[in-house]
Amino acid sequence: MVLPLKVDILYGPVNSRRLGRSLGINLMPSNYKLCSFNCVYCHYGWTKVHTMDVRDCAQDLPSLDEVLEKVRIAARSGLDFEYLTFSGNGEPTLHPQFPQLVEGIVQIRNQYRPEARIALLSNSTGVVRADVRESISKIDLPVFKLDAGSAGTLRKVNRPVEEVDLGQMIELLCSLDGIYLQTLLIDGSPSNVSPPDLEAYFQQVARIQPREVHIYSIDRPVPDPHLVRVTPQKLQEIARSGEQKTGVTFRAFWMDR
Ligand code: SF4
Repeated sequence: MVLPLKVDILYGPVNSRRLGRSLGINLMPSNYKLCSFNCVYCHYGWTKVHTMDVRDCAQDLPSLDEVLEKVRIAARSGLDFEYLTFSGNGEPTLHPQFPQLVEGIVQIRNQYRPEARIALLSNSTGVVRADVRESISKIDLPVFKLDAGSAGTLRKVNRPVEEVDLGQMIELLCSLDGIYLQTLLIDGSPSNVSPPDLEAYFQQVARIQPREVHIYSIDRPVPDPHLVRVTPQKLQEIARSGEQKTGVTFRAFWMDR
């Protein structure tokens, strides 16, 4: 069983492995998944609307005012959270007003919850937009997905829309300062942990030089039964190897079973 979709703009706070108590902000529709990827491991199931161009779905997206009002109410309440996190039913940076949303939420945070931090969990495809790239420096913890070092593995694992170009995406990630990468590692079919896959992946990480890399595997139900979890021991080995080959700090995360 995959997880149910988020039914509202805000969800949680959830206890996150990396963020502590995180109040999620879902900028995508409440009743279907809208994403530029269709990852084989997505715990929300298969992508229903697979696109970078959300104009046909504009009526299903929350408006700027709706999102800011919900966040303002939560920030003024006694709700206990450490992070406000852009995530949810798809790719948050596909929202046409993503930069304005970041700006508005930063203002609300500064006014009502100066101790809270703002995080973004993105699949990296939105960085083709200059206004999205410009907004990244306002986010305390901008985390970008990189599951593959080659276009072939990206196609097998993340199944992006046609126009996604890994080379361009890497170049644009290289242009951003202070970002984090997150990588979901899977074995079975498909896999992104074969020696050639890891070699290509480490080369891309070395080029991007993120602040840190967070690696993990499938700890929740996934829609494809052919996937195999990478064990915590192997994650730790990959982290050590990644640090040696890239000079970047790798952190491995897993849930005890
Ligand atoms: S990018 Fe995220 S939301 Fe989109 S398909 Fe992959 S895991 Fe699911």
